[in-house]
Amino acid sequence: MKQNLAILGGPKTLDKKFDWPVYDESDVNAVAEIVRSGNWGNPDCGDVVEAFEKEFASFCGTKYALTCVNGSVALRLALIACGVKPGDEVIVPPYTFIATASIVLEANCVPVFVDIDPDTYNINPAKIEAAITIRTKAIIPVHFAGQSCDMDGIMSIAKKHNLRVIEDACHGHGAEYKGKKLGSIGDAGCFSFQSSKNLTCGEGGIITTNNEELYDMINSLRNVGRVKDGQWYEHHYAGCNYRMTQMQAILLSNQLKRLNEQTARRHENGTYLNSLLEKIDGIKPLSRGLGETVHCYHIYIFKYDLSKFNNLSKVEFAKMLAAEGVPCFMGYPEPLYKQPLFQKKSFMCYAIPPEVDYTKVFCHETEKACYTEAVWIFQNTLLGTKEDMDKIAEAIIKIQKAIKE
Ligand SMILES: *Cc1c(COP(=O)(O)O)cnc(C)c1O
Repeated sequence: MKQNLAILGGPKTLDKKFDWPVYDESDVNAVAEIVRSGNWGNPDCGDVVEAFEKEFASFCGTKYALTCVNGSVALRLALIACGVKPGDEVIVPPYTFIATASIVLEANCVPVFVDIDPDTYNINPAKIEAAITIRTKAIIPVHFAGQSCDMDGIMSIAKKHNLRVIEDACHGHGAEYKGKKLGSIGDAGCFSFQSSKNLTCGEGGIITTNNEELYDMINSLRNVGRVKDGQWYEHHYAGCNYRMTQMQAILLSNQLKRLNEQTARRHENGTYLNSLLEKIDGIKPLSRGLGETVHCYHIYIFKYDLSKFNNLSKVEFAKMLAAEGVPCFMGYPEPLYKQPLFQKKSFMCYAIPPEVDYTKVFCHETEKACYTEAVWIFQNTLLGTKEDMDKIAEAIIKIQKAIKE
């Protein structure tokens, strides 16, 4: 019955609010204590920022972790610290947030787009080698949605061609690849603490690494070019002030205590939801079992086949599902290379040589994901109950039945 659809005024299948961020009085008190101390940015009286960095490094199993203002800056600092020069090429996927590619431009380098694997929506290692040239210096694999990339494949290509690997782990807090935390496998790992991410303090970022040279350079670049044992007004590199406040760090420390339990719940609910959705004709969850020992489901993604839904467009389907109370979205409207920034090679693109023409880029799998297939459910939904997952499946079945009538 079509009239039964929530979008047409019928009852919602899932009538519940999924809160994010999750916090209680312990978070409020921790921040209040810093506010009362007056040491908001000053590390001299008990450095909460450094304490959090140690906690996060230990959480990821890396030697170092360096906080900064956001995930984009984390990526940019990690890339610059690798020693890239203007005009160097950096391989990125086109199915990701703009920052993965725009920070390459900000570093005066050239983003080269390599298509995704249709089963995981992560960069396809089998397509990386064809994109490598004499100017290629780094790969930025994105652990999209919280599912690890094929890191064995990527690391072996990087080793063969002497490339740096910077993991964009902005979706990947707490997720693992073959038992290793994301962000601990490449030369550096970059995380965001922006409001929507699985670990957040509103805005913020962190870089993990085991490489002491990278650590020293990033540490200097985020602190206006100062160096260890140098004077306050002694600046060695073209850095900037990218430091985080003590209030952010204490909030992250407190939030980190919840992360393991939340990740376990998302992993469990995501796995259960897969088992429900794969039974629905025309719905296909992304593939699992490719090395991701923990999937942290920053996004739960499934593929939608409109031919099984009376040719209802993905956009309309996502609107109907959202109306049923499932916090969902159509995802990126188009591949990154379609953004005006690349199509027009606008302001800030002066390092891109004239022969690079993004209007000629075509990544088939990314186009399919954007235009017809991918539907996203947000991470906080996966913090719900098993019954909530049942209702997500129920809502999809309800829509399918109604529109087939
Ligand atoms: C959020 C995000 C970033 C950037 O993080 P900010 O903290 O917003 O700067 C980079 N890459 C991916 C994949 C992201 O989702």
